[in-house]
Amino acid sequence: MAAQVYLLQEAEGLSKDLLGGKGFGLVAMRRAGLPVPPAFVVTTEACRRYLRTGEVPGLWEEVRAKMAALEDLAGKRFGLGEGASPPLLVSVRSGAPVSMPGMMDTILNLGLTLEGVEALARATGNPRFAWDSFRRLLAMYGEVVLGEGSEVFEDFEEKLSALKERRGAETEADLTAEDLEELAYVYLAHLEARGTPFPLDPWAQLEGAILAVFRSWQNPRARTYRRIYGIPEDLGTAVVVQAMVFGNLGEDSGTGVGFTRNPATGEKGLYGEYLRNAQGEDVVAGIRTPEPLDRLRDYAPGLYGELLEVAEGLEGHFRDMQDFEFTVERGKLYLLQTRSGKRTAQAAVRIAVEMAEEGLITKEEAILRVEANALPGLLRPAVDRNKAPKPLVKGLPASPGAAFGHAVFSNEAAERYTAQGLPTILIRPETTPEDITGMYLSKGILTARGGLTSHAAVVARGLGVPAVVGAEALRVYPGEGRARAEGVEIREGDLLTLDGSTGEVYLGSVPLVEAAGEALLAKLLSWAEPHRRLGVRANADTPEDAQRARAFGAEGIGLCRTEHMFFQEERLPWVRRLILAATEEEEAEALEVLFHFQKEDFKGILRAMDGLPVTVRLLDPPLHEFLPPLAELGEKAEAGDDEARALLERAKALHELNPMLGFRGVRLLLLRPGIFRMQLRALLEAAKELREEGLNPRPEVMLPLVADPKEVARARALAEELFREYGPIPFGTMIETPRAALLAGEIAPLVDFFSFGTNDLTQMTFGLSRDDAGKFLPRYVEEGLFPFDPSERLDEKGVGRLLRLAVEEGRRANPGLKLGLCGEHGGEAGSVRFVADLLDYTSASPFRVLTARLAAAQAGLSSLQPV
Ligand code: ADP
Ligand code: MG
Ligand code: MG
Repeated sequence: MAAQVYLLQEAEGLSKDLLGGKGFGLVAMRRAGLPVPPAFVVTTEACRRYLRTGEVPGLWEEVRAKMAALEDLAGKRFGLGEGASPPLLVSVRSGAPVSMPGMMDTILNLGLTLEGVEALARATGNPRFAWDSFRRLLAMYGEVVLGEGSEVFEDFEEKLSALKERRGAETEADLTAEDLEELAYVYLAHLEARGTPFPLDPWAQLEGAILAVFRSWQNPRARTYRRIYGIPEDLGTAVVVQAMVFGNLGEDSGTGVGFTRNPATGEKGLYGEYLRNAQGEDVVAGIRTPEPLDRLRDYAPGLYGELLEVAEGLEGHFRDMQDFEFTVERGKLYLLQTRSGKRTAQAAVRIAVEMAEEGLITKEEAILRVEANALPGLLRPAVDRNKAPKPLVKGLPASPGAAFGHAVFSNEAAERYTAQGLPTILIRPETTPEDITGMYLSKGILTARGGLTSHAAVVARGLGVPAVVGAEALRVYPGEGRARAEGVEIREGDLLTLDGSTGEVYLGSVPLVEAAGEALLAKLLSWAEPHRRLGVRANADTPEDAQRARAFGAEGIGLCRTEHMFFQEERLPWVRRLILAATEEEEAEALEVLFHFQKEDFKGILRAMDGLPVTVRLLDPPLHEFLPPLAELGEKAEAGDDEARALLERAKALHELNPMLGFRGVRLLLLRPGIFRMQLRALLEAAKELREEGLNPRPEVMLPLVADPKEVARARALAEELFREYGPIPFGTMIETPRAALLAGEIAPLVDFFSFGTNDLTQMTFGLSRDDAGKFLPRYVEEGLFPFDPSERLDEKGVGRLLRLAVEEGRRANPGLKLGLCGEHGGEAGSVRFVADLLDYTSASPFRVLTARLAAAQAGLSSLQPV
């Protein structure tokens, strides 16, 4: 049988899967000549065996043998101090192959006994230190090995507070050696009383701790974490047993964390924190405030220099930014951990680009290192989480960036504040198309309901407005102009900050960090572009959006929704007349007015995208969406308003129980062909006028919600009438019903292009409406029934299968067929990588164009190198 326990020096060449991330990092650091306290690693294989069978034959013999080697390396005996020499103490540390919070906490100072404390006190001449080390061991061991829960922790905290109170001590630092000795005996007695006595035998301590680490692989926190992040259940964790070094032996000792580059900005240079005279987790526990590493330059320049060298060595070895932990014992530096550091999107780009320029990694590696989905957040400021207070509520991070402004609850209030030059945050239970003005004017959007593809989320991303949606703890009373969260009342005018990258919402203003690094991003993308085959277009409904998208590198508009043009204030009356029209003349009159509006809109967009294709989708929503809410009409009608009464009648007639599956899209266009003709003529006429100006407009027209080839044939015939007059333009259809995908082979010969509307296609394939899915989908994902939310990321198995089928049969029936995607997935990196070889282009909201470009390039590269 292979060995199950390795000293660091014996483990060179073994895998991270076997040694765990922590063990692997320690082996590499020791190998690179960095000062690492001696240690051995119990492998993940031993853990797996234990979890399978409840025992690990031969393990304790191996552990004893390695401990003997450790004793020799450290020059101390485990457990018992001999004469004046202090005992060897160890830490027992968990370390899975992937970094995973939820595993067992580290136990420090293991091996101490009552005799050991005395020996330690004698050897260091510091009884306070000795008793402090012992009571920390009791606390940690009691909590994580004997307590198997948190109640021991709380009991101990209580006893500590009680003692501090009796002594009039403000912090633990005010407690004397005698106090800490007393506390240790109180802890011992408590553990005894609850039937879980502390083992005063070092070997029993060690065995108990190692088995507790093994078992912690199965604890609920760890399980949940693995489920959410898709980490395999069968990896197991390794255990690192390492000789203790002490950062709490005086002012020339301490403990700290370092980053080889700034994790917030990516700037190269040593960055981190240090706490003098402290042990282990004191740095992060926030008991005392650590000082920035820079400070060391002044009072410990030698140590600072050593740390700089360490940083350089780590990067050279790991070829990535490292996050490392170290301890200084009486002026001597020891490294305890290293791993690739977490970083912001901004830092990720800067680090990737600069490392490539330094020659540390290749340009291809740089491209693959950046998480494409994080790019939109790069261009906007974010809340400085180091300085921010606790958030008031948390929702879903729907549209990245931080926003600050006065709370408003209506379009009208948003307009009022904006007119005075004041920024606003629009708060709604959820948003509807009616809220568009307020959404457009506001700096941020906050809703209580809805998911990441709710109306609010989709529109906010399109507008580039930061948004937090589905903040369930929020109750919004728009009529009363107020909201409540966690017992706090928010009224119109109150100041709020939200961060659409994290979903956090704060009262008042909080410090922000500015976006920077566009130039670096541009450089990264310029390296990436040659690897991209998939075209990238944008979803844009206005000339401003189109321009923005073009600036981000969009190669056309893949989806221009015409209904938003209908919602504007001066047009709604005409849309309503159209809906009410009793005769053909009345309809014609309304259409004539709308024709002019639409023509101007189309000209604006075609002008902004001159020379590039613009796909215009004909009217999609049902007509009743353009009517005021029934309740409002009812009130007005009651008050004697004749128009309202007429609208109310129509609204009742048009009412649908399930509008999503109702009288809309191509169904409406075929049965109210006047609308179809008006829209298409406006598009063709707009192009004609621009051509007369010498421009090169490239319009394309697209049908929504098709389910049958006959619908397409009929619509095509209608279109041909106008094409005869103006000349043809590309004519295509969305593929967004499962039936259209299934009949793609029959539809393809009738069109020039397909555009997969994956929002509706996903809803209809799953049979779930994203407007209602918020009630159960998050739990579905949490409980592992779905691996992710399919409205966010394309479901490759089901929806992807329909897509593949439609692509194959469509291409076979019409080899010239162009293929695109225009759902929200079009700007999600994983989905883009999925369609990169399947389609001709993807279309994303303007701020996601960058994501789509990078992800498409990564797809091109990942055939060479896995991401
Ligand atoms: P985590 O997985 O939470 O990072 P670690 O095993 O790294 O846990 O332990 C947390 C801290 O405990 C370390 O940052 C270090 O300060 C301290 N520590 C761990 N092992 C030792 C040791 N052998 N000597 C001194 N301090 C240690
Ligand atoms: Mg650590
Ligand atoms: Mg649709």
